[in-house]
Amino acid sequence: MATTTAVPGWLQAPADANALAEQVWPIGAHRDDAGRLVIGGVDAETLAATYGTPLYVVDESDARARARRLLAAFESAAASVGTGVTVYYAGKAFLSSEIVRWVTGEGLAVDVCSGGELAVALAAGADPARIGFHGNNKSPAEIERAVGAGVGAIILDSEIEIERVAEAAALAGRVQRVRLRVNSGVHASTHEFLATAHEDQKFGVSLERAVELGTRIRSHASLEFLGLHCHIGSQIFDSAGFAESAERLLAAHAELARVAPLPELNLGGGFGIAYTSADEPTPIEQIAQGIADAVASACRDHGVPVPKLAFEPGRSIIGPAGVTLYTVGTVKPVPIEGGWRHYVSVDGGMSDNARTALYGADYTVRLAGRVSDELPALVRIAGKHCESGDIVVDADYLPHDVAPGDLLAVAATGAYCWSLANNYNHVPRPPVVAVRDGRARVIVHGETVDDLLARDAGLTATRTAPNSTGGITA
Ligand SMILES: *Cc1c(COP(=O)(O)O)cnc(C)c1O
Repeated sequence: MATTTAVPGWLQAPADANALAEQVWPIGAHRDDAGRLVIGGVDAETLAATYGTPLYVVDESDARARARRLLAAFESAAASVGTGVTVYYAGKAFLSSEIVRWVTGEGLAVDVCSGGELAVALAAGADPARIGFHGNNKSPAEIERAVGAGVGAIILDSEIEIERVAEAAALAGRVQRVRLRVNSGVHASTHEFLATAHEDQKFGVSLERAVELGTRIRSHASLEFLGLHCHIGSQIFDSAGFAESAERLLAAHAELARVAPLPELNLGGGFGIAYTSADEPTPIEQIAQGIADAVASACRDHGVPVPKLAFEPGRSIIGPAGVTLYTVGTVKPVPIEGGWRHYVSVDGGMSDNARTALYGADYTVRLAGRVSDELPALVRIAGKHCESGDIVVDADYLPHDVAPGDLLAVAATGAYCWSLANNYNHVPRPPVVAVRDGRARVIVHGETVDDLLARDAGLTATRTAPNSTGGITA
């Protein structure tokens, strides 16, 4: 995580520390005449004054535009090789009823990976037949709920789960559609991929057992086998890893397809986005075409028809649509090799954005309430938590006069920030506000300290909740 060298190699001091690099901010983000950052037609100062900080802001038009663009890219690539495609929005990136309505409204299906996410998708009115249910340890209750709701596919993650889902479906008197998650041995991230015979991780079954377990699935009258599934990583910038993984899967797919029709191949998500001005992911149209071509060519080699494709993007739809606003509390210059680093502490931190502490993620920060002509200063945006790893932005530049009371915006926080939010140090989770066409509205309420106290059983004697263990009375 925190770098040992003072400044990461990719980071250049900007000519203008107020500039908004197009690829990291929501579409149409700009500064108004007063220098304030404007997102979805609403300025950051008004948002902060209305809803307080920290504040998650999501640009609805941006998220919808990305969903449309992804769908169009995959549809056109699939059509070029004579097949169709389903694009699932991976709800774990950020799920709320509003988000479900946006993505389904744009023609996407939805992936969930817990009973809670399933409940949100269903409550939002998603078509159960267009929901995929993931997870390496779905509880019997979750399986029962998913089968009962009629979800379009359950992604089987282990040998044990084949039997569990078959039994649950038989008991419910249903035929459940399923996919088999396979570990292709390919693990990809940003600029490279690693291809091994086995991958030492918890998801999926190994590739060499795919045919055997696919055959097992087919032996159950209560299961309908749709095809193989694979998810090779996250924040991937090109198609090479997907192509390698698809080629490996196709051997098993072809063997199964020779016995009986195997209609689909699901290649997961993981398409990368720009978090900083140094990030340049390949356009999704090119990635989609690269994958479709690799699948088509492998199908030709194996002499099987090109299956219907499926993908599961999360980050690449909602990530760039989100921005987090913070207020600066303190600024502290610290001497480092060759100069100074300004620790700028804000009113949130690892409770609203765990990714920097968790993965060493990089982000971009800008002044959101004004511009300044001062020279750029190297900054590290720190949170308010009692933990030295509580960093929001490891390294970027802000105008030298950044000061307490300044409003800051951190870009590309739409994915895996709200969904990973926590109450460390009893800090309440911020609300989420959607902006569009100059209007803002709350789509997820924030928490208050009273909300936190309400869960403390020592303070609320009579609360009973479905999940509480309850009391044992003699
Ligand atoms: C996390 C995940 C995704 C989404 O990944 P992104 O990087 O957000 O696109 C898709 N499919 C599966 C199975 C996942 O676990």
